[in-house]
Amino acid sequence: MAQTAQVIVDVATRQTDQPYDYAIPETLADQVEPGVRVIVPFGRRKLQGFVVGLSDTAAFDGKLKAIEQVLDLTPVLDPELLALSKWVATTTFSFWIATMQTMLPAAMRAKYDRTLTWTADEKPADGWGQALFRHARTVPYPDTLTAAQTRQLRAWVKADQLTVDYIVHNRAKAKTQKAVKLAPGKALTSAAAPKNAKAQQKLLTGLQTKPFTGVLTQPVAAARYGVSVATVRLAEKAGWLQSTTVNIRRNPLAIRPERDQPKRLTADQQQAADQFVAAVAAKTPQTFLLEGVTGSGKTEVYLQTIQAALDDGRTALMLVPEIALTPQMVHRVLARFGDAVAVLHSGLSDGEKFDEWRRIQRGEARIVVGARSAVFAPLANIGVIIIDEEHETSYKQDEAPRYHARNVALHRAKTFHCPVILGSATPSLESRARAEKGVYTLVRLPERINDRPLPPVHIIDMRKNSGARVQPDFSPELVAALENTLAKHEQSVLLLNRRGYSAQAMCRNCGWIARCPNCDISLTVHRAARKLVCHYCGHEEPIPTRCPVCNSDKIRFFGTGTEKVEDTLQKILPTARILRMDADSTRKKGGHARILNAFGKGQADILLGTQMIAKGLDFPTVTLVGVINADTALGMPDFRASERTFQLLTQVAGRAGRGSKPGSVIIQTYNPDHYAIQLAARQDYEGFFRREMRLRHQGKYPPYYYTVLLTISAPSETVTAQESYRIAGDLKPLLSQTAIVLGPTPRSITRINNRYYYQILVKFKKEPALGRGLHNLLTNSQALLKNKVQVAIDFEPQQIM
Ligand code: ADP
Ligand code: ZN
Ligand code: ZN
Repeated sequence: MAQTAQVIVDVATRQTDQPYDYAIPETLADQVEPGVRVIVPFGRRKLQGFVVGLSDTAAFDGKLKAIEQVLDLTPVLDPELLALSKWVATTTFSFWIATMQTMLPAAMRAKYDRTLTWTADEKPADGWGQALFRHARTVPYPDTLTAAQTRQLRAWVKADQLTVDYIVHNRAKAKTQKAVKLAPGKALTSAAAPKNAKAQQKLLTGLQTKPFTGVLTQPVAAARYGVSVATVRLAEKAGWLQSTTVNIRRNPLAIRPERDQPKRLTADQQQAADQFVAAVAAKTPQTFLLEGVTGSGKTEVYLQTIQAALDDGRTALMLVPEIALTPQMVHRVLARFGDAVAVLHSGLSDGEKFDEWRRIQRGEARIVVGARSAVFAPLANIGVIIIDEEHETSYKQDEAPRYHARNVALHRAKTFHCPVILGSATPSLESRARAEKGVYTLVRLPERINDRPLPPVHIIDMRKNSGARVQPDFSPELVAALENTLAKHEQSVLLLNRRGYSAQAMCRNCGWIARCPNCDISLTVHRAARKLVCHYCGHEEPIPTRCPVCNSDKIRFFGTGTEKVEDTLQKILPTARILRMDADSTRKKGGHARILNAFGKGQADILLGTQMIAKGLDFPTVTLVGVINADTALGMPDFRASERTFQLLTQVAGRAGRGSKPGSVIIQTYNPDHYAIQLAARQDYEGFFRREMRLRHQGKYPPYYYTVLLTISAPSETVTAQESYRIAGDLKPLLSQTAIVLGPTPRSITRINNRYYYQILVKFKKEPALGRGLHNLLTNSQALLKNKVQVAIDFEPQQIM
């Protein structure tokens, strides 16, 4: 029997990022297993930790401290996820504890009570168990348990007779709805209500002729008897009905769409699906890159592949960029698979996420659809992993642990021997290059469904859009097209490319610009709220009426914010109904879905929005797509600027003409000859890929080189600079001749929230010693600790500022 357990404690520092040995007391002997959480003494504190391993002999002979308490009856991380957490920590240079915490729902970190629920039909026949569940099936988790009792609980859990539930304080109250049941022994004759109270009489008659058993929610009861909810409430007051509540499962999307049936695949779709299904059946961990133009029917192929995995008794994991932005995709998965689907994304409350996580862990949900972190869903026996829009940057977490969901998916696929399907109309250069080398299998869907043509794209040169009477943001061509679409009662989508762009407040007298006191960045004007806001640290202040420098009252706003464009647009098209979709208008929970719903129902003529409107929308009624400023992202100091611009324009252009009516696209730009814009207009992904690859080759950038970004920060700029140079100096001897070290340089926004940031970018082909080297460099550095210096390591960063 094991004598010691290796425990990772919940302290995220480099110094504590290693397993510590603890003795296992006799009483806990059969409860301690890898993946359970425990309480251990650590220094003078008591800490939570995860058991990550067991061994027979102590690592040293001295007296070991002992585990004090075991928190879980069954492991919260199974062996696969435990091993995965270690792998993620190593490959992303993050702390092991941080990756384990990332994998678990936040509710498990909150304060909670535990309950025991007896789920088997027959209650325990005798002894302690009988006493425990005598009065109720759900009881609080007992405060003190003997080892034998804990053993008994574990046996029941293993035999599916008992569940342990976590009731999270404040965060995750069970959701209830008001409901009614029949009052026992109450005579329901028409005399019970006044003769002239028609609605009450109707309800009485209904209750007599069509009584119900059990419990109905108030609205359901009202609908059943054709009366209002108010009448149902009156009936409660009168005592014919008793009021009660029902628990409802928190349903993330609060919709259960009508079930749909698999479609007959087109020939192209069929040959794609055949390959995927064959790989599922053969259990080959093969990676496919499904390159399909927008509207080519990728989703149907995903759904049929998922079905094949289910038919084989396995489960499926499907990642989408951000569910709030892709409700239509989630809808389609729910429509096909109903309650077998669990949905995980950042818009859920902690309680909702926890509910879904438990359904997955218990095997009740066999399909998981989710954003980035759903890649850690506790699915067993995965049969296929799908990553839709695989090029999206949101798959990379930009804070620790800095993992890329694609890499994690590939790793899990190896463990489960299952295929991975990466789908996109505009694959990342990294993935497309791997397909070129034969590492991934390239599968293409070159045609749109029903041969719907791709819409014609007009590029408008905004350099010619000058003169006194024209609007700066709207060319005459775009205005004419909008008017035309409006006149035909069709819908338009307008994209305002906000990357690197925002509305600022400036004094026209002296040139003063409102800036954040904590960061090196100007403040953004939020007109509706009459505030200036820093988008980096959250600082807010009122919009000044006078310039703080020269006291002039000539404060003007410049730059194009969505609100300002909306104003202008409304002036140009006074009768148009405009919906705006941006970070402000969607802040409330479900905001995206509400706006998209309204637009889908035809409650507006124009949907004006930022990047978020480009994704996954499938509205057959949209015939015009306009891009107000195609090139704001081109000026960003990032080698992916062209790739991002190409992807965005291709995606948004694909939104037009998805129904029976033909569509058209207008792109306004100051760089009409730029290849990213030209090729996006032609929807020529392959052309873009070849051209961009040449440039990346010349510039020694990914996918030809790997990159690691070190970001060094401290409250003092001098310290930041000194430490950055010291680290760069220590790093160079570890690298081979072929590696390239850029920097240190101050980040383009050097100060954020009163910390200074410097960066070092390492480009390399193969550096086996780099990982260990970086690790040692940072773990053993007292100087870093003493000077409050933080170093973040980002392997394959998606944003380089
Ligand atoms: P993508 O995901 O590649 O952009 P979609 O899956 O959204 O494409 O498909 C575009 C449209 O074509 C959708 O409305 C979808 O319902 C429809 N569709 C897909 N496959 C078929 C098929 N085999 N037969 C008929 N309609 C299809
Ligand atoms: Zn001024
Ligand atoms: Zn700030």
